[in-house]
Amino acid sequence: MTDIVLATDLGGTNMRMAAVGRSGDVLFRSKERTPRSRDGEAIVDAIVRMGQECREELVGENLVAVAVAAPATIDFDNGVITTSPNLPEMNGLAMNDEIRKHLGMEAVLENDANAAAIGERWLGASKGIDNSIMVTLGTGVGGGIFINGEIIRGPDGTAGEIGHIGVEPEGHKCGCGSRGCVEQYASATAVVRMAKELGAENPGSALDKLSDPTSEDVYETALAGDPLALEVFRRQGYYLGIMLAGLINALNPEAVVVGGGASGGWDLFAPHMEREIKARSYKEAAERAKITRSRLGDDAGILGGARLGFESAAKAP
Ligand SMILES: [Zn+2]
Repeated sequence: MTDIVLATDLGGTNMRMAAVGRSGDVLFRSKERTPRSRDGEAIVDAIVRMGQECREELVGENLVAVAVAAPATIDFDNGVITTSPNLPEMNGLAMNDEIRKHLGMEAVLENDANAAAIGERWLGASKGIDNSIMVTLGTGVGGGIFINGEIIRGPDGTAGEIGHIGVEPEGHKCGCGSRGCVEQYASATAVVRMAKELGAENPGSALDKLSDPTSEDVYETALAGDPLALEVFRRQGYYLGIMLAGLINALNPEAVVVGGGASGGWDLFAPHMEREIKARSYKEAAERAKITRSRLGDDAGILGGARLGFESAAKAP
């Protein structure tokens, strides 16, 4: 009998669940669209249903915990979702209580970027490194910060919200209530918005001709050599570099790991990002920080959640 954690990566669009063993081996996977309802009950129901499905597939295994990585700030100790800008119906949801009630298992809830940072430190690009910064570029920009081997959550669960570091004082309005946050220039959403803006300013251009583009469409256009599309990725790298230079000066990390769907444009934005980091941070700190792409890709959050699930089950009475 193997010990298993059922780890869920809850996204604004899709949710994925995997059954993960102690060495990070994945035994079973399931994926569906994130259901929306007024009160978040549909999301709980889907997690419970996927959990029951996993159970049926894994008869005889020892299911020790359910872990949920959510795009939200978290009251980690109580397993409650504080604020989720992209899934606001979950605000205030006592996720751990719901899971314990319906599945009768130990539950652990974590911010999705923190979970990704924990996964990368367990089995990925920052394996065994005690001081690191994880940056996730998706619908928004998330972060997870390790200092001396501990993930930093802060008393209100907002530590690591690096996507809301301001990089343009009077810049684009952000969902958090501020303006000019790096999320508005470096997320997949921002890549699409900047491409549409540049397209509208340049009638007849390749970007103008894209109808309802995704960030991958903008990437393909840039790869074909279109100067305006290349400018989108220059801006993405420029603003990320400004944000990271500040963090590198403040935290002196050994590693910076960049993941999430919009990290796919790495070869186009990374040179600009690295130039800003070099120009704006202390020389020793910039040399210390090894900047790499995520090694676990889409599985970082699931594996980090699983790791937390095993830790939580070990501590449970
Ligand atoms: Zn913001």
